[in-house]
Amino acid sequence: MLAQKETGWSVPDVCLNFINGKWVGGGAQLPVINPTNETVLTHIAEASAQDVDAAVQAARESFEAGEWAGTDLETRQRLLFRIADLIDQHSDELAWLETTNIGAPIAQCRARHVPRAAYNFRFFAEYISQIRSDAYTQLENYLSVVTREPVGVAALIGPWNAPIALTSMKIAAALAFGNSCVVKPSEVSPLTAIRMVELICEAGLPAGVINLVNGSGAVTGAALAAHPEVDVLSFTGGTATGRAIMSAAGRNLTPVTLELGGKSANIIFADADFDRALDGALLSIFSNNGQQCLAGSRILVQEELADRFIEAFVERARKLRIGDPLLEDTEIGPLATKQHFERVHSFIDTLEADGCELLLGGKPCEGFESGYYYEPTIVRAPNNKAVVCQEEIFGPFATFQTFRTADEAWAIANDSKFGLLGYVWTTDYATAMAAHEHVKSGVLCINSPIIRELRAPFGGYKESGVGRESGAACEAFYSEVKTTAFLTGDVPLRKLGMGGA
Ligand code: NAD
Repeated sequence: MLAQKETGWSVPDVCLNFINGKWVGGGAQLPVINPTNETVLTHIAEASAQDVDAAVQAARESFEAGEWAGTDLETRQRLLFRIADLIDQHSDELAWLETTNIGAPIAQCRARHVPRAAYNFRFFAEYISQIRSDAYTQLENYLSVVTREPVGVAALIGPWNAPIALTSMKIAAALAFGNSCVVKPSEVSPLTAIRMVELICEAGLPAGVINLVNGSGAVTGAALAAHPEVDVLSFTGGTATGRAIMSAAGRNLTPVTLELGGKSANIIFADADFDRALDGALLSIFSNNGQQCLAGSRILVQEELADRFIEAFVERARKLRIGDPLLEDTEIGPLATKQHFERVHSFIDTLEADGCELLLGGKPCEGFESGYYYEPTIVRAPNNKAVVCQEEIFGPFATFQTFRTADEAWAIANDSKFGLLGYVWTTDYATAMAAHEHVKSGVLCINSPIIRELRAPFGGYKESGVGRESGAACEAFYSEVKTTAFLTGDVPLRKLGMGGA
């Protein structure tokens, strides 16, 4: 275990706001709680509407000054690579901060979340050197050239469940295409975003290009979403918040991307590779303590396999190592907040009325004096109407249903207000192709847990989101497209105003 005093790493006494190159205070101080022991880790200085305005103005001025927006490609790339290197150099510290703040097991933060943050910067550094644009010559005597320019000020609002991995994607993309930005981390989990901004400044980004405001959604987030000087807004979080943000941004005609919730079906056919499907199903629901938008939380198993598969799944889930997330071999840590812990537990009250059978868990873990530890929970539901099959629970909480035919599986999978991910396990090529055709989700993984290919779009159908994130999708979102028509030949113009006096 990495104790703070042994490492020299620390949590700031107060998390300040970063505006125009300086860390400054805010209004109210809100506590940030350590989910492992329920002590106050630090406080955030909540940015008021005026503070948010100052951050947006700083971003605007830096953008207009062109110190970053106007830099050449090599300079921009060098800086993005340097940020990635600094993240790598501080990976142990960043993983420690993330785990301390949100309770995700340190092994997962170190192996996945932090390397992903570094990779995001490398990916976009490489991507921008390959951008192509169109030229049209079909119109006689004209050359029409399409180019892209940075949009301006990007507002980047992040969630608490995987802050460094998700917020770094937004920052890397916004900066790579030459924008200035205002980052708003979740009030629950500001620590890695703050440290990342420090590293970005150490890498040499000019003052004002990146700003960070801390605070609640109701005060700081709402002020940022409604700010008329924000040119684009990228949000990852819950669906209800996404609606509020889109309405606020809509009043200013600010384009948004929304990466929202999910209730993804994980469909296991009788012909699947049993062991691989079992490993994949466990990973899909229990990684990150189950707090993942992409969780395969609705497991559908073909009838003839169901009893054997569910039994094996329950046995493995029973053996998950629950404990202090800073311990290397911990597989499940505490949920991120007390409020969230209570919400997850509240779903147990719906089981009886929906005719669900509780197979494992369903209660807070015993043996912990403090911390928001919740038992891995498994429920067998009679049908997809059960509340636990419809609502995103966002915890270590899996539901099982059975199906007979592939058509029935697709129908259950698509009977959801969400459409973020789908997972299908089969050794039959035709079934895999049919899944590709029928499952309504933004991403579909065949015989694999989530694989995030940054070149390919990530995002959701239906209430799982608006827009996508990928190299090309971010290029389209974080830059304005301009068509310039050059006259190349002799085109006589109609003469106006040649009438008699
Ligand atoms: P949340 O919606 O509560 O908060 C997300 C962010 O929005 C926070 O920074 C919060 O302060 C801010 N916010 C809240 N109200 C606001 C308002 N009115 N205006 C502006 N900002 C506001 O979400 P969360 O609980 O932090 O994250 C969990 C949710 O995020 C889950 O639903 C999960 O599925 C989703 N998520 C989606 C993806 C994806 O890529 N699709 C990834 C991770 C998480």
